Amino acid sequence: MPTAQPSTPHPDYDFAVIGGGLTGMAIAWGLVRRGRRVVVLDEGDTAYRASRGNFALVWVQSKGQGMPEYALWTMASAQRWGEFAAALNEDTDLDVAFRQPGGLHLLLSEREVESRANALLRLHNQPGMQAFEYRMLDHDAVEKMLPQVGPEVAGASFCPFDGHVNALRTLRALHVAFARLGGRYRPNHAVERIEAHTGEFRLATAAGEIAAGRVVLAAGLGNARLAPMVGLEAPVRPQRGQIIVTEKVAPFMNHIVHTIRQTDEGSVMIADSWRRQATMPRSAARCSPWRHNAPCACCPCWRGSTWCAAGRRCA
Ligand SMILES: Cc1cc2nc3c(=O)[nH]c(=O)nc-3n(C[C@H](O)[C@H](O)[C@H](O)COP(=O)(O)OP(=O)(O)OC[C@H]3O[C@@H](n4cnc5c(N)ncnc54)[C@H](O)[C@@H]3O)c2cc1C
Repeated sequence: MPTAQPSTPHPDYDFAVIGGGLTGMAIAWGLVRRGRRVVVLDEGDTAYRASRGNFALVWVQSKGQGMPEYALWTMASAQRWGEFAAALNEDTDLDVAFRQPGGLHLLLSEREVESRANALLRLHNQPGMQAFEYRMLDHDAVEKMLPQVGPEVAGASFCPFDGHVNALRTLRALHVAFARLGGRYRPNHAVERIEAHTGEFRLATAAGEIAAGRVVLAAGLGNARLAPMVGLEAPVRPQRGQIIVTEKVAPFMNHIVHTIRQTDEGSVMIADSWRRQATMPRSAARCSPWRHNAPCACCPCWRGSTWCAAGRRCA
């Protein structure tokens, strides 16, 4: 967080947060809760905005290979999510549906099981790593937790700390909470230039200039362009992912899978933030027989549901 040299007494705001996604709004809400004058400057609807199109896992089990600190942050964050959700609920009456039922990473062959077990061992054996609970499960154990699992699933890794949330409602709750405490949200205020002056930063936006004592860069992919304006580097780049969302169906999944989860509202989300388009639905189909043509009978609650992407209707 860049800080200007103190001296000018009254910039417009104590903090200008650039970016109104989950990161920016969480920081902005934290700041107004501490009595700071905060403005959030956000770009328009054409911007890349991961907070509005993500899979919403609070995922612990595989984070931190090569960087044990990341695993520690992830675990600390997952442990504090309940407190965070409760605080948001208190400020807004909105339930962001944080649940921590434990997550499964499904594996499609004995080779994948062995490779996953080794990877998790390597993760936990790193110097400085704080080990956390996880288990490797065989097919039968997976089936007990997830009766709809496909016959090709050889096993899974399971971690009881994995959870999920309603990400869109979380974003909405952060906006509501921020506004209720007097924070100013400015959409269509893409920051084009940041200049450090004595005691304040001046931010040039399409809708005029704003001055703030401190600036928070929370512009997601926009940080790559903004960071050098304050002597920092943020070499982030876009990466293609894909999410399929079905219409809402009655609850049937007790656990989350790293690529399949049922939301609190009933939709099933099928996703992969890494793979290319064709491989993701195919591997999801192998994990769960209810995604093949015939076996909707395996999961009657899903019969008739409509895919909003990857265009197939199970009827
Ligand atoms: C397909 C997919 C699946 C994902 N799944 C998960 C998951 O399961 N779990 C998880 O934890 N994370 C997941 N993520 C990652 C997660 O969504 C992001 O880490 C998170 O949303 C980033 O939030 P952000 O606020 O930093 O960025 P963004 O949501 O991208 O927000 C950046 C904001 O900055 C604004 N902006 C950009 N440039 C400027 C500018 N110059 N001036 C003003 N405003 C600007 C944009 O308009 C935008 O509102 C996923 C991401 C994707 C794409």
